[in-house]
This record gives sequence, structure tokens and C-alpha cells, in this order.
Amino acid sequence: AEMRNERVKRTKTVCTYCAVGCSFDVWTRDRHILKIEPGHGPANGISTCIKGKFAWGHINADDRLTTPLLRQGDTFVPVSWEKALDVIQEKFTSIKAKHGPDALAFISSSKTTNEESYLMQKLARAVIGTNNVDNCARYCQNPATAGLQRTVGYGGDSGSIADIETAGLVFIIGANPAENHPVLCTRIKRSHKFRGQRLIVADIRKHEMAERADMFIRPNPSTDAVYLTALAKYILDHNLANMAFIEKWVNNFETFHASLKPYTLEYAEQVTGIPAATLITLANEIAAADGVCILFAMGVTQHCGGSETATALSNLLLVTGNYMRPGAGAYPLRGHNNVQGCSDFGSMPNVYSGYQKVDDETIRAKFEADWGVALPTTTGKDNHQMIDAILEGSLKSLYIKGEDTITSDSNANFVGSALSQLEFLIVQDINFSETCAYADLVLPAAASLEKDGTFTSTERRIQRINKAMEPLGESKPDWEIIQLIANRMGGNWKYKHPSDVMDEVARLTPLFAGVNYERLEGYKSLQWPVHADGTDSPLLFTEKFPFPDGKAKFSVIEYMPPSEETGNGVYDLHLNNGRLLEHFEQGSMTSRTPGIREITPNSFVEVSPELAAERNIQSGRFVQLTSPFGRVKVQVVVSDRVQGKQLYMTLNSVEEPVNKLTSSHTDRSTHTPAFKETAVSMTLLPEK
Ligand code: SF4
Repeated sequence: AEMRNERVKRTKTVCTYCAVGCSFDVWTRDRHILKIEPGHGPANGISTCIKGKFAWGHINADDRLTTPLLRQGDTFVPVSWEKALDVIQEKFTSIKAKHGPDALAFISSSKTTNEESYLMQKLARAVIGTNNVDNCARYCQNPATAGLQRTVGYGGDSGSIADIETAGLVFIIGANPAENHPVLCTRIKRSHKFRGQRLIVADIRKHEMAERADMFIRPNPSTDAVYLTALAKYILDHNLANMAFIEKWVNNFETFHASLKPYTLEYAEQVTGIPAATLITLANEIAAADGVCILFAMGVTQHCGGSETATALSNLLLVTGNYMRPGAGAYPLRGHNNVQGCSDFGSMPNVYSGYQKVDDETIRAKFEADWGVALPTTTGKDNHQMIDAILEGSLKSLYIKGEDTITSDSNANFVGSALSQLEFLIVQDINFSETCAYADLVLPAAASLEKDGTFTSTERRIQRINKAMEPLGESKPDWEIIQLIANRMGGNWKYKHPSDVMDEVARLTPLFAGVNYERLEGYKSLQWPVHADGTDSPLLFTEKFPFPDGKAKFSVIEYMPPSEETGNGVYDLHLNNGRLLEHFEQGSMTSRTPGIREITPNSFVEVSPELAAERNIQSGRFVQLTSPFGRVKVQVVVSDRVQGKQLYMTLNSVEEPVNKLTSSHTDRSTHTPAFKETAVSMTLLPEK
């Protein structure tokens, strides 16, 4: 018994499933997870959701990758690390010699640590010599960041998660936090139910928070920017704006004000379908509220006009003076555990760590001096441009870390045809994903419980994960693998621990100047910006906005109608999509926990009662959904959460992913796919 107890270990970690950033102790005996014990997490206290508590089956799943796998014809053979590194060195060197460094590209992962994201971009830039590096924020959050950077300078939550409880009004737009950010959402439910906090929800689907809301509006798809801008106009026209705040803190008012002219209530009603009278009530509520937090997610960003909508909601917050105080501001609810940090730490084609621009000579010179190499001068390709470049023939090699590109990127069949054309594809992951099947070389990575590092949650909170067990088989932490590759390519890197990487980041990045592992011990955490003396920023904007004169800026928006029109022709239905509480995205990790797989084995599509009656379709039947880009078979749930010709499909399927249906249209500014603008037809399949 004593021996057994000696093997029992308690380790503090952070959940890997969403950006709420719940932290807790994990009790293990060897590789066996005994229990998850929350208690001290700054974001979650004693709470977790089903995923954080139970979805750890991926750690010991049967298909964990335990050795490098090299393609031989149609199969993979296990090889040693030495052999794998030989192959990488040979392929990277020859492709670079023949086609130049920009023929190689790198995709980092929002599931891996900050330090690993930093090293991925350093490998691309300093060792290979290309700025072709990106991460999956391109699929989700970049429009939110763009809209906020334009208006208030930083793309991040304006305050802490706890501050949301103190808002007078919470306005949720295109987000489903009850399923996607459950622990954060509990705070809103509590404040709304017991403390009189007002709750307004705008969504095309009546999800749980819409049911609970004081006011629920259902705009036509892809029209949020129009009513948000009309609200700003109405508030200004009726002297309900916070002019004192605008005069003191916001530039570009005259131009912005003039641009509002077309956004009358009549126009907004015509485009969005929301009655003008409802918009007046909404405008008055927003203007009168003592602190407004706008929470938003993929329902805002994954559209051709995603950045415009994010801009419009930030303009509205500026008009009403809802920045620079707790319980107010913009909360782009980040999806992955580290989607915030992956971009923060520089895995983007245009910036180094801390959003320092690669085309700024002074900044580039700083990195060149520290890294001791000449760096590429022009912006690299983003994920979307990488796929196009493969098909054009200019991109020959892709190194994907911790991402199932095939099921995550939009228009899966198209992306698959591109990946098949690569001369050399490395996929590094913990399990054998769908994308691994396209690889030339598969590298086995360690899971979060098997390594040290940090994640950054949606509230810009940097937190430590600690190693609870050894990496399985020959798998290695991503940072070690990247370092091995860098050194084979002449990098001469000498990081002994992720803390060495963090020290380098702090030295080179004003946003993280005071971050070090001592200040992150145990449950200690830091919210960026972190000043050199270690003071952090629970509230993002206090004395100024990060623009040269310290003022925010109104930004004129251009409304973009949806890219895929429904209602005429073959593709007569609009398909929306999103996660299910029990699963993370397509379920590539969560499905590996048997209990979770049992209660939610498959994805499903919600069909409105009126459409179901018209087509004589009942819950439980299977339909085929067809778009111009592909088709999937999926089971029907008849539900009044959706209305009329709206369909909603859950994401949790790797066999029949919704992304076989989604298009290659993207947000104009950031190239984030318009996942939420899909037109489909639906055919009832015969009963088995
Ligand atoms: Fe917390 Fe999100 Fe993990 Fe659930 S999935 S435990 S809400 S971090």
C-alpha cells in the first residue's frame, strides 16, 4: 500500500478544452488519472465543466502516437527519432535550396503552450528564413482581434472574467457560452438570476442563454454589423451617447458620425429583420445600463464581414463609454485553451511575439540582434494563403503542429486535395488524426499532462501547466521536437526548460516584460500586459489606449452581405454550426473518453418544426446535406431552437465533418473562413 501511495502524485494543471482557463489539481498514479480537484483557480474556483473533469481519455488512448511514423507507399512504418530528423533535415534543406525559404510553411497550435508557439515562429523565421507561420486563430478569432485592434488597439478581453458579473448589462452576440464556455457562463447565469443583471442575446439560434435572456433578437444571418451600427447612430442622434468619454478618449468622431447616415432604423429593419421598435428598446437599454459587456464569438467572426462586425460592436461600446472600467467592454470569447497565447507569442505571418510587426525595421533589428541572424522582411502567408500557394505550386512543404487541418479548415475536400499535393508534410500530434493520413512524416507529441509550459486564457491570463507524468513511449513535448529540428537545421538552440524560452520572450517583448516562471508558480498567474516590475493588468485599458496619443479610435465599417445566398435555387437552406457541451470541436480529443462518446456518439442537425413538417422528417431520421463543396450524412433532431429554413449542425464528427460543406469564402480583412455562411440542400435518406 505504501508503494502505491508513493506513486500517487498531485499536480497543478490547466484545462485544455476552452479558453476560460480553469485550473485544478490532477491526481495521478503513474499514467492513471485518479481525479480532478479544482479549488484555487483564479477563473473557476471550485468549478469545472464535464470536459475539464472527465475528458482525459486522449492521454492513454489506443491510438496515441508513440514513435515517429514515416510514410512508405500507402502505409506508415515506425522509425527512430534520428531517422525522422535525418528525413526532415534532408527534405527541408533540399526544398529550401531548390525553391527558397518561402516554399516552406509552419502551422502552430492553439492547443500547445505559449513557449511552443514562440519556438515554432522562431524556427520558421530565424532558422528557415520565412514568415510563413500561422495558427488556427485564423479559423476563428482573427476578425475579433482585427476589429478591436482598429478601435481600441489590443485584441483581448477588456477586463477579467470576474468583472463580467459586475456589469449592468451583458449582451451576448453570436456566442453560445452555456456550451462553449460553461464555467464563465455560470457567473452570468448567477448574476442574471440573483443580482438583477440584464441579459440580452442576439443569435440566429435560440440556445440556452437566449431562453434565459430578458430580450432575445434573431437577426437575419450575417447582418449583425447593420443593427449594431444603427444602434450607435440612434444613441448619438438621441443624445444618449457618452460625449464626455468620446471627447476625452476617442479620435475620428466626425468621420465616423458622418458614416452613420445610411444606418437608419428603417434600413436596419429591412436588412436584419429586427423591428425598429425593438431596436429602439435595445438602444435605450444599452445607453442606460451601468456598464455593458459585449460577449461574442464565432457567430460574429466566421463571416465575410467578421472583422466589420467586431469593429461595429467596439464602436458601439466607445459611443456609450463602455471601456476603461470593470464590468464593461468587449469580450471576444476565445475558443481553444491557448488560442489567445498562440497569437500573442508570435505564430502569425505578420508579427513576432507581442504583436511586434515583422516589417518594422527597428523591431526586426532587435530580433536579429538577439537571435544573431538576418530575418525575412516581408509578411508571410496565412493558413488560407498557404492552401492556395500549395495549389499554385509555390508552397512545397508544410509542418503542422497539433492541428487537425482536414476537419478544422473550411471546405475539407478542397483542403484535402491541396495537402495531397505537398512534396513534404509533417504532422505532429498526440493521436493519429485525420490529417495524419496525408502526412509524409508523423511526429508523436506529448500531451499537456506530460510537459511544462504556460497557456493564456481568454482573459489574457498566463498560467502554468506542470508535468504530471512522463511522455508516453517516445513522444516528446512539442518544444523539444522543434528544438531538435532547429538544431538539425543549424540553429544551435540551448533551451533546457520552457522557462528559458519565457525568459527570452520577456526580454524581447514589452507586452510580457515582467513574465517569468517564479511569478507563475502554483496557482499564481499574470494578465498581460505585464510590466517589468511584475505588475499585471486585470483591466486592459486604464490610463490610456495603446495608440500614440493614448486615445481609442472610431473606425468606419463597410457592411458585407453573406457570401452564400440561400432561398433561390438548389441550396435552399442556411446551415449554421457549433460545438456541443460535451465535446471540444470535432471531438478528436473528447471522443477518446468512452463515457463522453457514449452519451454523445454522433453529430446531429437541428431542423425547425415547421421545416420538418413540410418535408415530413422526424427526429432520428438521417438526411444528406449537400452544398456546392461536398456532402455529409447526419441524424436529425427536430428542435424549435432553429427557425424556418435555418439548420444547425454540431461539430462533433471527424467522419462526417460539417466542414465538407463549408466554403472557401473568407473574411475580407483576415481570411478567416466564413464557416457560418453555408447554403445547403437536404434530402431525406431511406430508413434502414
Ligand atoms: Fe473550464 Fe472550459 Fe475546461 Fe470546461 S472546458 S473545465 S469551462 S476551461
